[in-house]
Parts: sequence; structure tokens; C-alpha cells
Amino acid sequence: MSTMIPPLSLKDSYDRVIRDLRISITDRCNFRCFYCMPKEAMEWQPKAEILSYEEILALAEIFVSLGTTKLRVTGGEPMVRRDVESLIARLAKIEGIEDLAMTTNAHFLHNRARGLREAGLQRITISLDSLTPERFALLTGRNELSQVLDGIDAVIEAGLQPVKVNCVVIRGINDDQAVRFAEFAREKGVHVRFIEFMPLDNGKIWRREMVVPGEELRRRIHDIYPLERMKSENLSETARRWRFVDGAPGEIGFINPVTQPFCGHCSRIRLTADGMIRTCLFSTVEHNIKRLLRGGATRDELADFIVAAVEKKEDRHHINDPEFVQPLRTMSCIGG
Ligand code: SAM
Ligand code: SF4
Ligand code: SF4
Repeated sequence: MSTMIPPLSLKDSYDRVIRDLRISITDRCNFRCFYCMPKEAMEWQPKAEILSYEEILALAEIFVSLGTTKLRVTGGEPMVRRDVESLIARLAKIEGIEDLAMTTNAHFLHNRARGLREAGLQRITISLDSLTPERFALLTGRNELSQVLDGIDAVIEAGLQPVKVNCVVIRGINDDQAVRFAEFAREKGVHVRFIEFMPLDNGKIWRREMVVPGEELRRRIHDIYPLERMKSENLSETARRWRFVDGAPGEIGFINPVTQPFCGHCSRIRLTADGMIRTCLFSTVEHNIKRLLRGGATRDELADFIVAAVEKKEDRHHINDPEFVQPLRTMSCIGG
């Protein structure tokens, strides 16, 4: 019998309401973004360790019954997993979900965006770090910028609005493309969001000097295309949002986890592909819900486990503290 009474909403010990579950469905990827995965052969998790779609659904349903309203499917690259559309279709049917989204490198979207929408996906966030083919190849290890751009067009055509394009900025590598990305936002009517590089890379190449403060990029864009701040009602939103003063379509956002941390309003929790709950991107401990699930735990026991894990959510990251230790798991395993 359950010992805890399920709360109406999941709250951590700092009184933050956890509404946003990110589900990594695979640690594998067809790209090798150098700030995320090394070029050398990766050691993938054995297939038997990866949660099946049935297991993901069972856990997602419990999270939603506890107050989760936003689900994001991510990875690794979620679209390398077979028939992700069938998972989306089943997640979309869970009662209580207000927002169902996916983060992808867009490589497979050119002929699948419409199908994803028909399956019930509401939004897609695309990762794109360069708009020049050579630099794109250098960053991702794949010479496939045009296919990714076709994927973005397909998402726009499929009407999966708003289309968000995430760009991780690294000094000396792609910070010179900020204005070009602003032009891309205006041309396509998409939301470009610049993300500060975080110490979650596999190759341990992160250095503070490589982080380009979002504010520096904003000023550079503002000098050419004046921007005005948009009001946000959603405190847990990670991006500081700006629109073009001249009324051009598109939007620019800055996600500044290093220079302007937003942990105080964090509403996120993560489920890794191999069935661990991670309460923070920078967690050094994980909560093994797969063991319980596969051991035949009841629904109430799984719900209690989730509530207890959320209560232990970290107050913040420690990137800016001298004693900061990079977590062992990297972004591709955690699910960004
Ligand atoms: N493969 C998909 C993609 O790239 O969109 C989904 C998974 S990927 C890990 C999710 C996001 O994490 C991407 O937008 C990626 O750019 C971002 N990311 C990966 N490593 C990062 C790092 N070290 N710092 C900041 N963002 C990172
Ligand atoms: Fe793959 Fe996404 Fe990591 Fe790039 S950022 S290597 S596309 S998981
Ligand atoms: Fe939330 Fe952790 Fe990210 Fe801070 S670092 S916003 S607490 S996930």
C-alpha cells in the first residue's frame, strides 16, 4: 500500500513546481557535434538497458498523473530510434498533457515532419549551430547542412509553430554568425535561441573562455537589427525573448545558463534512455526507476519513488563555483 498521498502537483523541497519532463529515448546519434559527443567510437548503452516504448509510456503516464503537463522527447537523436511516430502518437493520447514537443538535429525531418504532426506532436525544436556548410560540417562531423535546412522548411510547412532553432555558441567557432542567425530568424519567421556552452561535453573540452555571454550576442545583433524585450508570463521559461523593433517576423532568445542562471525557477526533470531519473542537468546522483519498474513495482510505488526523487532536486548548478565538478554523464546521455 502507498505510504505517501500523491500531490496535486510535483513540488521539490525549494517549492518549485515540476511540470516539465524531458524523456531521452536513445543515447545514440547520427551526428557528432564536437561539444556533445566525441568523434571516436562511442560506447552505446546495450539495447536491453534502454527503456522500451511501453516502459516509457507507463512512466510518462505516472508523471502526468502527478502533475506533469509538458513532455519533450529528446536524446541522443530521437529520430534514430525506430518508429518514433508511434511513441509520439501514444504519448499524445495521455490525458493531461498540454504540450508535447521534440528536440532533434532535423536530419530526418524533411519527409517526416508532417507525419509527426499527424501523430500528435505539437512543437519541434531544432538544433543548428552554423549556417555555412563548412562550419556546419566542422561542428557536427556531417556535411549535411542542406538536409537540415530542408528539415526546417518541412517543419514550417507542417505548421508546427512556433519553430524554435537552438544554436549553441562557442567562442572562436561560431560566435561570428549571430547576425546571420538573426537574418535567418527574420527570413523564416522562426525563433532562434542562442545557448551558452555548458560543461556537459563528452570530450571535456569546456573552458570558461569558450562561453560567449548571451548579452554580448544580443548587443551585436541589436546594433544591426534593433531588438526589444518581450514580456514573459512564464517564470520557468529558460529563454530571455526579444523581438525585432521593425516588426520583422521571427524572434531571438538567449538561454544563458552560465552567465545568468535560471535555476530558481526550474520546472524540469529528466528521464534518461536507460531509465534513470535525473533531477538536474548537473546531478551527480541518479534515481534508478527502471529497476523498480522491471522488478514489478506497483503504480503507487513508482509514483512514490518519483515524488521522493523530486524532493531531492538540486537547488542549482555549480558551474560558477570553484569546486564545480563536471557530471559523468554528458548531454547526449542526459537528454538536453
Ligand atoms: N540530438 C538532438 C539535438 O541535437 O537537437 C537532441 C539531443 S541534444 C543533446 C539537445 C540539445 O542539447 C541540443 O540543442 C544541443 O545543441 C544541446 N547541447 C548538447 N551539448 C551541449 C553543451 N555542452 N552545452 C549546451 N548545449 C548542449
Ligand atoms: Fe547528436 Fe544532438 Fe549531441 Fe549533436 S547535440 S551530437 S545532434 S545528440
Ligand atoms: Fe534546472 Fe539544474 Fe538546469 Fe538549474 S542546472 S535550470 S536546476 S536542470
